[in-house]
Amino acid sequence: NLIVSEALGRVAPSPTIAVSQKARDLKAKGCDVIALAAGEPDFPTPEHIAEAGIKAIRDGHTGYTAVDGIPELKDAVAAKFARDNNLTYDAGTEIAVTSGGKFAIYAAMMATLNPGDEVIVPAPYWVSYPDIVKLCGAKPVIVEMKPEDGFRLDPQALEAAITPKTRWLILNSPGNPTGSVMEEPHLRAIADVLLKHPKVWVLTDDIYEHVIYDATFATIAQVERKLKERTLTMNGASKAYSMTGWRIGYVGGPSSLIAAMRKLASQTTTNPCSISQWAAVAALNGDHGFLAERNKAFRARRDHLLDVLGKAPGLSVNKPEGAFYLFFSCEGLLGGKVGERILETDLEVAEALLEEELVALVSGTAFGKAPFLRLSYAASMEELEEAGKRITRFCERVE
Ligand code: PLP
Repeated sequence: NLIVSEALGRVAPSPTIAVSQKARDLKAKGCDVIALAAGEPDFPTPEHIAEAGIKAIRDGHTGYTAVDGIPELKDAVAAKFARDNNLTYDAGTEIAVTSGGKFAIYAAMMATLNPGDEVIVPAPYWVSYPDIVKLCGAKPVIVEMKPEDGFRLDPQALEAAITPKTRWLILNSPGNPTGSVMEEPHLRAIADVLLKHPKVWVLTDDIYEHVIYDATFATIAQVERKLKERTLTMNGASKAYSMTGWRIGYVGGPSSLIAAMRKLASQTTTNPCSISQWAAVAALNGDHGFLAERNKAFRARRDHLLDVLGKAPGLSVNKPEGAFYLFFSCEGLLGGKVGERILETDLEVAEALLEEELVALVSGTAFGKAPFLRLSYAASMEELEEAGKRITRFCERVE
């Protein structure tokens, strides 16, 4: 007889968990499952970064730190924003380090939202945005991004969604799950809408900044300086440096918001892991040469899958410019049959694919867009080649 809070009651259990759990169960039974459902790079944390973490332990950096991060790391973050994004933030008052990027988003929302407030979330979205907003008692307002627009936010659709209750717009480029990139001209058009609505703030989730192939990264505060005073530029170590388990996110933004987030962290997470912070200093200040090599591997994997899945009956695949996901329509499979099973939804396609061919993908429904599937190609080329064969065979079996 656990009494669940109203806040938690507003949050739906993650629809991705069913597939992931099923994949784990099948693996435990000895089945040869290819799991392409997770959102983490398959590369290890680079050696020099891992060594900096080990050194931090040896040097005794194992106690509490400042809530918003050690000065060395805040300086490194400020230098990164200046170097990569041409953005100037004061390391003392306009930068915060958080326990993962996800907590930065939660802290920003929790620190600013009241019941009745609205947050514009373009769909397909990363699964956590709407639920974080709901957890905070506010309302996610979903704006559809269309495949024919390359899954980019249409400025007119944004304008139509803004109401007097809109507090935030969340942007994510390169995007999860679509891999779409909003380049400078796209962001310029979004900025022009926002300039007309001075009460709307922007949270830009730039966590896939360095996982990009055919496009040039830009972030909105860089494109329109006037928005900087109401933009939270969020980023982190997870995807760029293969540091998902280290839990380091960081933000640059107006000092008032940074102070509010610091207050929230002081009563919840305290500081981000001290050891991880020293590793992140090495990551941000160190050599970034490995990124080009990794992106080359990601691109080759993407191109292989685009080629294979592009020929699979029933699928319609868009070419992503970044992140490590393929997000494709499976509409052509709906209404078909595999064995005794009728495929009515993308959830059923994902389930059948897992049971019949032992490939774990996530349904588009989880990201607010049906009937689609998301495939993470953060896996070895051998696994992806085998997955491509299995998915094709599955599609061919649907009658
Ligand atoms: N934002 C997006 C779009 C993501 O895909 C993820 C992780 O999957 C995160 C944020 C969270 O990253 P972190 O590990 O820093 O919490």
